[in-house]
Amino acid sequence: MLPKIEDYDQLLREFRWRIPETFNIGVAVSDAWAARDPDRVCLQHFSPDGAHAALTYGAFAARSSAFAGGLAAHGVSPGDRVAILLPQGFEAAIAHAAIYKMGAVALPLALLFGVEALAYRLKDAGAAAIITNRFGYERLVASRDELPELRLVVLAEGGDEPGTVPFRALANGVSRFEAAVTKPDDPALMIYTSGTTGPPKGALHGHRVLLGHLPGFQLHHHFLPQSGDRMWTPADWAWAGGLLNALLPSLFFGVPVVSSPAQKFDAHKAFRIMEEMDIRNAFIPPTALRLLKSVERPRQRYALKLRTLGSAGEALGRETFEWAKRELGIEVSEFYGQTECNIVISSATGLGVVKPGSMGKAAPGHQVAIIDGQGRVLPAGAVGQVAVRRPDPVMFLGYWGNEQATKAKFIGDWMTTGDQGVMDEEGYFTFFGRDDDVITSSGYRIGPGEIEDCLAGHPHVQLAAAVGKPDPIRTEIVKAFVVLKPGVAAGEETAAGIREWVKNRLSMHEYPREIAFVDSLPMTTSGKVIRRLLRQKAAAEARPSHG
Ligand code: ATP
Ligand code: MG
Repeated sequence: MLPKIEDYDQLLREFRWRIPETFNIGVAVSDAWAARDPDRVCLQHFSPDGAHAALTYGAFAARSSAFAGGLAAHGVSPGDRVAILLPQGFEAAIAHAAIYKMGAVALPLALLFGVEALAYRLKDAGAAAIITNRFGYERLVASRDELPELRLVVLAEGGDEPGTVPFRALANGVSRFEAAVTKPDDPALMIYTSGTTGPPKGALHGHRVLLGHLPGFQLHHHFLPQSGDRMWTPADWAWAGGLLNALLPSLFFGVPVVSSPAQKFDAHKAFRIMEEMDIRNAFIPPTALRLLKSVERPRQRYALKLRTLGSAGEALGRETFEWAKRELGIEVSEFYGQTECNIVISSATGLGVVKPGSMGKAAPGHQVAIIDGQGRVLPAGAVGQVAVRRPDPVMFLGYWGNEQATKAKFIGDWMTTGDQGVMDEEGYFTFFGRDDDVITSSGYRIGPGEIEDCLAGHPHVQLAAAVGKPDPIRTEIVKAFVVLKPGVAAGEETAAGIREWVKNRLSMHEYPREIAFVDSLPMTTSGKVIRRLLRQKAAAEARPSHG
């Protein structure tokens, strides 16, 4: 789809989408390669004992087709929402491909969800079936009575619970299955937003969503694919980031994906996986990258073969970018997008389209601008709403069962992101903050990202978040919540040092007048700081106590 043009801005101008009349994600990620090169490895499962099982495209295609047939035989119909509550692994990938092939809608759910979070999404989506393992099943049992629409439970391991069907019974059946002929706009995938700012919403996508992701990866085969490439992400495949920024494009391009069971992120384990599995391409969200920083001189300790590294979901920041360049020898390709419209801005490091501290430029094929409340495009340098113009293949079809919210997302043809940002003369976008996270202090509007980035550069700081705390004189003051590196003592001396650090680097009004040391920050399952909760905490402190 991508013309061979070296000049990025010319590429942006001349790029035109060529969306075929029919397209099916399941066929594109499995059958297409199976026909060409059935023995090619598509997935390899990392096992701590070294026995890394591999799955070929031939087997992937056959088992996903059998599974699609099995789902249909068990009463799942095209259009039905089918939940996938599984860790990274063959079963999750097979389930995805099968659901797309039969024209149903995949609903990936994170294993980290608690009982209520899970029930909320299954109920909201009216899921007809769920594919899970024992761990997920136990979370499900409690609320099964509240889910009358859930007719089928497929169990991936030890599947002998009453009222469930074993995964292998479906996947090992007859593999001849006529995949549904789907149009690019036919629903394929529904992902709930991370719920960082409020209740999560189900963003419904058409099969075209995968097509819309490809050019950004492909820029001259830089990010993907080159021969020898192997992809890994610690992010859950249930999140838009893990699924659309790592798993599906890699499978599409014939790049093997290494799966590893998601546990609590551990920096040494992450490096070990990358070393042992010869990982050349990784997608590692900013929070995880910041945790990797705790490992000193990683390249001396681990033989890394990383060629490309992507990151998205939160602001990456200059500090973390510079750290990766210095310590991993790689320029991070930052992506920006959201569940509703993923990867519309990116830094194309292979073409030199990168500016530390900024997210990059519009990705080929996507019209992104900074607009005001009336939908007028603002000039370079002005802070405003980051917006994406429709039509765009990566743009969602709508929020599930919430037409009003879908409508409210648009001003004319501009889809608003709920994020504030600024674009410079050259077309580089810098993230300023989510609408609600922007701090107003003494008449200034402050994005928390810059402060957090500055804090992250302090030698004692592991993670940090900045929020506005109500203040009678200044409207708000900046309050920082800081997780210190292991072994650093909290206390006024440390706080004073950190305040000085920010004062010397940023404008006077940006330094955190208050610092609270905490053991951890509240995070979504996708590793995003939930500033809303910190803001509530700060607001409660600011209220005069009664009694
Ligand atoms: P909810 O919409 O339920 O509050 P969420 O917005 O966190 O949750 P996602 O769709 O997973 O759910 O996240 C998209 C958001 O993540 C973006 O709107 C933006 O705020 C943030 N984000 C993504 N990429 C970047 C990036 N490169 N830099 C800064 N922020 C980013
Ligand atoms: Mg959002």
